[in-house]
Amino acid sequence: MQAQPITVAYGDGIGPEIMQATLDIILAAGAQLAIDTIEIGEAVYLRGNTAGIDPSAWDSLRRTKVFLKAPITTPQGGGFKSLNVTTRKMLGLYANIRPCVSYSPYVHTKHPVMDVVIIRENEEDLYAGIEHQQTPEVVQCLKLISRPGCEKIVRYAFEYARRYGRKKVTCFTKDNIMKQTDGLFHRVFDEVGVEYPELEKEHWIVDIGAAKLADTPELFDVIVMPNLYGDILSDVAAQIAGSVGLAGSANIGEEVAMFEAIHGSAPRRAGQNLANPSGLLLGAVMMLVHIGQGAVAEKVHNAWLKTLEDGVHTYDIFEPGVSTEKVGTREFAQAVISRLGQLPTQLRPVSYAAAKAEPMTMKLKQQADPKIDLVGVDIFLHHNDRDANQLGNTLKATIQSKMDLSMITNRGVKVWPGGLPETFCTDHWRCRFKGHDGQFVNYNDVIAIQQQLTEAGYSIIKTENLYHFDDVPMFSAGQGA
Ligand code: NAD
Repeated sequence: MQAQPITVAYGDGIGPEIMQATLDIILAAGAQLAIDTIEIGEAVYLRGNTAGIDPSAWDSLRRTKVFLKAPITTPQGGGFKSLNVTTRKMLGLYANIRPCVSYSPYVHTKHPVMDVVIIRENEEDLYAGIEHQQTPEVVQCLKLISRPGCEKIVRYAFEYARRYGRKKVTCFTKDNIMKQTDGLFHRVFDEVGVEYPELEKEHWIVDIGAAKLADTPELFDVIVMPNLYGDILSDVAAQIAGSVGLAGSANIGEEVAMFEAIHGSAPRRAGQNLANPSGLLLGAVMMLVHIGQGAVAEKVHNAWLKTLEDGVHTYDIFEPGVSTEKVGTREFAQAVISRLGQLPTQLRPVSYAAAKAEPMTMKLKQQADPKIDLVGVDIFLHHNDRDANQLGNTLKATIQSKMDLSMITNRGVKVWPGGLPETFCTDHWRCRFKGHDGQFVNYNDVIAIQQQLTEAGYSIIKTENLYHFDDVPMFSAGQGA
């Protein structure tokens, strides 16, 4: 077997100890790796690099295309950017895979039957990081969801389920509220799901879905969801399975992939030979499958299960009566190494024979370009007088246009015409103008309204165009409208 070039970062806090333990185990199991080590994290940040990664490190990642990364410490404040978010987005790592498995009775859990894989979209949603203070009272964060982004992650989830012999794929969204953004995610899930007739498919609104996941995780198999829900619920799922310290994570892109533990650098535990290396080790197991060294992955994973089963536990999962030996990071690694080649007898052994190393095919569907018509505009104003009727009636009398003022909302709730006096209003108003009798308009009509508003002394924060795509409105109505 040829040595696979990989990039390794030892990270901060407990990172160097758990990385050493992980590498010791996988190399002892026969992993063929050509390791290129890079420095990332705290030391780089503190040298004044706000990204926490030097340009030369990107060269290594782009060359090897495989990154095994220990957790890092992000210094508080000071404009430091999250290296994790930067790495995922810069390298196009669109899929985050987090298997959450319980190991009862060897690791305490309220859910002895749990084997859920959370597949989280990793690049879009509120993590686009586009935030603006719009008025003294109101800030905004843009939630961006794209059709290719949805299709890539949803297809990945179905392909993953097929490849690993899973039976069901569940989708969580909040499309009863966010009909455009989460609605697109759900729609793409339904569209792509048709191509996988052998898999069961279901969708839950994320709130009740999360409640069910926390209560009866055995009902779930593979769950795919947008970025924010996936971020939160994968930690919940890992924790209820037993411990966040036991879960590994893969971040997969079309070119590059990154493997890590889901936990952080636990600085208080650093340098004491205490930390549990299992999360990073399971991340490394996913890496070995990814690079086509599935037999080594299987050997490592089964020896690790046998170690858990034999009660050899680090402090975080140690339980008198269940555990037989409390060990440190190094001793745990040695215990796994000494069991290489053994299978667990109580826990179910894993098999990666069916896992193929070829990259998943992510051919996206071609979409026909829709007919796009501009039918109006939402103009957002910063306006301190809180009298909605006064604002609506004045604007109606002031603006001469091919468009009519059809409504005003404040934080999304309709306040004109016919608002309720009880509705709380901020200094942030959305004024919706639409073409008379549904007529199409053009951007010069928008500019004309902006000009009149500016001349009348109004302060415009931003505008959003209102489109019909193939004669279907592509914008939300006002609440209460
Ligand atoms: P953390 O995950 O580092 O620690 C949370 C708790 O879990 C602590 O009590 C810790 O002792 C325990 N713990 C975590 N991993 C463990 C392990 N392997 N073995 C035993 N116990 C373990 O979360 P935090 O304290 O919120 O964050 C610490 C630092 O890590 C922060 O700077 C944060 O930004 C960073 N962080 C990095 C990553 C990453 O690099 N992927 C992820 C999350 C947090």
